[in-house]
Amino acid sequence: MLLSDQLGPARRAVHLFVRPNIRRVSLTFVLSLAVAAAAASEPLLLKQVVDRLAAASPAATERTLRAIAAGVGLFALVLTCRILGAAWVTTSTWAVRLNLEYQLRSRVAAKMSVLSASTQSEMGTGGLRYAIDSSSPQTASAFTDVAFKLVPTLVYVALAAWGMARLDGSITAIVLCLVPVPAIIAAVASRQQRRRERMQHAFWKRLWSGYTERLHGMGTVRAFARERDEERRLMRRIRWAFASIQRGVHVDARTTVAAGIAELTARVVVLCLGGWLVVRGELTVGSLLAFLGYVSGVFAPVQQIVDLYPILRKAHVALLSVFQVLDAEEESPDVPDAVPCPPIQGRISFERVSFEYRSGRKALDDLDVTVEAGETVALVGPSGSGKSTILQLLQRIHNPTAGRILIDGADLRSLRIATVRRQYGAVPQDVVLFNDSVAANISYGRPTATRAEVMAAAQAANAHEFIVQLAKGYDTRVGEGGRALSGGQRQRIAIARAFLVDPAVLLLDEATAALDTESEQAVQEALRSLRRGRTTFIVAHRLNTVRDADRILVIAEGRVVASGSHVELLERCPTYATLVRHQMGEGTAPVLSTPDHPERAA
Ligand code: ADP
Repeated sequence: MLLSDQLGPARRAVHLFVRPNIRRVSLTFVLSLAVAAAAASEPLLLKQVVDRLAAASPAATERTLRAIAAGVGLFALVLTCRILGAAWVTTSTWAVRLNLEYQLRSRVAAKMSVLSASTQSEMGTGGLRYAIDSSSPQTASAFTDVAFKLVPTLVYVALAAWGMARLDGSITAIVLCLVPVPAIIAAVASRQQRRRERMQHAFWKRLWSGYTERLHGMGTVRAFARERDEERRLMRRIRWAFASIQRGVHVDARTTVAAGIAELTARVVVLCLGGWLVVRGELTVGSLLAFLGYVSGVFAPVQQIVDLYPILRKAHVALLSVFQVLDAEEESPDVPDAVPCPPIQGRISFERVSFEYRSGRKALDDLDVTVEAGETVALVGPSGSGKSTILQLLQRIHNPTAGRILIDGADLRSLRIATVRRQYGAVPQDVVLFNDSVAANISYGRPTATRAEVMAAAQAANAHEFIVQLAKGYDTRVGEGGRALSGGQRQRIAIARAFLVDPAVLLLDEATAALDTESEQAVQEALRSLRRGRTTFIVAHRLNTVRDADRILVIAEGRVVASGSHVELLERCPTYATLVRHQMGEGTAPVLSTPDHPERAA
């Protein structure tokens, strides 16, 4: 990867996230450099003291002794400052890192709620979770690693090299040749280790997803008496994983020994060569000590620099995934001069509305419909004809490609969409409940509602009776996605939710999955009372619903091909008649023979 490719996002990240924290970042950076400089000066200060001590004799003057004491004092002072400074840098590094991560997370989270549906499906839940869960901390920690570790480490190594060169050029050259050796050994080993880690990561993920699946399907496992087989299979895989971890531990141990030997060699070389120079009088004992100090000091930082490379590579990928979310297309945002929507009366018009998900393929084609306040309109038509798209346009999840939608005469595009949506009640086909109490799920659209209001809404939605029979009544948790409840119960909770919001407009997408007769009746009744006095659009799959509607719109290939009541349409719309016969097969017989429709029964 080219350096310029990596710098682009990095520069943007600095611009976006460092500028607001510039004071703290600069202060921490400067202090981390000062700590590095202090660390690099320590061997030289020690050298001064030791050389003075070596030169001193029992008859040393008070001046010499004072100079030695001053040297020791300075050494102690620098050491103390370095320790305190390093502690401050660590604390401050964490503060910067958490602050940066917070900003990244809050930007990503804000963007998540306005992402267009197409981006959401394109990136998938996994991709989005990766962006918010892993990428933000990785990016933030990489930034602080570079700013407060890499740069100071480089400065330390450069200062140490300069300090050593001042003492003796030839030993310095040998030390500098030996310094990278442990790092190179570790880098070679880490490649193998990384491969192993990646493999282990994938292995555990697979293992646990398989295991979870077996737990869910324990009934099947038991039915076939396969418990022992499953157990053996699981334990065999875990043994394999443990053996792989053990192999990794061995590699780590070998690497540590090899790196230690390289470091030891450097020390012995310095000791032998330096000792020889000391004997010859060409190097002082203090300088030799300083050399040994530098040798211990430079190995670990060089290792750190090598270790940082994979972290930076990962962070680069993480940063790209954060920017991918931040740059992603937003779901039809408000226009700059959008106004809040006044209380909706309920007259809704589609004026020659067309819509294309992909250019060239019209999902809606020249839709021209006006729905009066309080009217219930059922949308029927074959699958893919555009019914859900109508509901989506009403919620402005997309904007029409041509034409406009008017709410009480105001163009939907000119309104602040949140103020419109707050006046809608939507009951989707697949009701999504959160793993919280029944009461919390009902009051999701109006969290300030009192328990009495929640109960009144549940009563209106025909849900109260089954709720009070749950283990903890309104405080029962509904399980992940509402799994603890049946389909019909989930529907009624969603209807109660809508009751509580008291919306002016209802957008209902009827469940296609068969509910049991009792649930179906309860749901139908609840919907009937919910619809009273509200403008309602309902994607209808059931004949009872269609017959209840004030008007039925038959949609085919994005167009309204017929409109009227159930009876009228049965007579004059072949598409509708076919739908009634085929698509709504389960309800066909009763409706055609019902006394409400003597003309069909005849
Ligand atoms: P219905 O609700 O009547 O089953 P839809 O409104 O869901 O129909 O779909 C109308 C048309 O738009 C279909 O041809 C469908 O394939 C297409 N469509 C729906 N959603 C999308 C999407 N997110 N991206 C692309 N095409 C879509």
